[in-house]
Amino acid sequence: KKYLEESSERKRLYNEVIELKGNIRVFCRCRPLNRDEVANGSSSLVDIDPSHENELQIICSDSSRKQFKFDHVFGPHDNQEAVFAQTSSVVTSVVDGFNVCIFAYGQTGTGKTFTMEGTPENRGVNYRTLEELFRISKERNSTMRYELLVSMLEVYNEKIRDLLVENSDQPLKKLEVKQSAEGTQEVPGLVEACVHSTDEVWELLRTGSRNRSVGSTNANELSSRSHCLLRVTVKGDNLVNGQRTKSHLWLVDLAGSERVGKIEIEGERLKESQFINKSLSALGDVISALASKTSHIPYRNSKLTHLLQSSLGGDCKTLMFVQISPSASDLGETLCSLNFATRVRGIEHGPVRKQA
Ligand code: ADP
Repeated sequence: KKYLEESSERKRLYNEVIELKGNIRVFCRCRPLNRDEVANGSSSLVDIDPSHENELQIICSDSSRKQFKFDHVFGPHDNQEAVFAQTSSVVTSVVDGFNVCIFAYGQTGTGKTFTMEGTPENRGVNYRTLEELFRISKERNSTMRYELLVSMLEVYNEKIRDLLVENSDQPLKKLEVKQSAEGTQEVPGLVEACVHSTDEVWELLRTGSRNRSVGSTNANELSSRSHCLLRVTVKGDNLVNGQRTKSHLWLVDLAGSERVGKIEIEGERLKESQFINKSLSALGDVISALASKTSHIPYRNSKLTHLLQSSLGGDCKTLMFVQISPSASDLGETLCSLNFATRVRGIEHGPVRKQA
């Protein structure tokens, strides 16, 4: 009974927020200056006023300022706990039957993997999410029984690879997105691991990220050019009324959004960057079409959006982290990322705040 009350209260609050803000949230996270940037004497171009936690200003080369507003802005001093504290209500709504998608978008080296995957000492959104889902599922054990299933895949040059299967063991048959009988998008043959503890989850996430780099001469380079997707399926079984629920939570570390230099544009690199551009702009188009409530949503324009079709739109929740660098040498890419995120959010930037 307590569970049902809690759940309906959360749904009520959620619907109230939706009325006010829509289903899409955009958080911006700026990484600290790295060692090389500090050694070069760089100063940060990103000005975040702690008393305005939803805006930031970029100091441009002519000293003019551009202001951007998001649902929340995290600065270099905000740690993984602070980021997850703002994210947890979105991820845990998967337990109440909502489909959820979380993306990290931005130039390579801005902290997408740090935010999503994290490091052993500073675990990211992926691990914290599962930890929280375990906590909730145990808490409600009296009326609800939950099962958590995890899949991990990579999209590289519009091809899907299962990251929970060793590269050499990958079946010759290609993984493809198919529509299931219930009308949802599925990937037949994709491994779904049933997880019971956070230790198991950590091992699985490590296996997935190890398999991600297999077969490439430069692991970091390859991972910056592929999308890495973690899918958590939550199956709920209500022991009181026999109702069953199934929902998906996607946690996505996107390929680097940077434009490659003209000199590098040839051969394999050209193909890769065309695929990345195509899928990232397809994602932007889908999210902004959803925000503007257009009738045609172009899900089929890329593998990425096709995969996520049943978890974007409708009453699904979407959260995007736009990751940026504070360094002057990245100014061009930073403005591109912030403009992309602004378009996704569907709200133009307001006037520049007066300086004190
Ligand atoms: P990306 O996935 O966007 O290519 P990474 O996550 O690999 O970027 O981050 C690049 C480097 O910056 C890594 O060494 C990472 O640990 C560090 N880093 C990124 N964001 C932060 C942060 N908020 N705090 C501390 N270090 C960070």
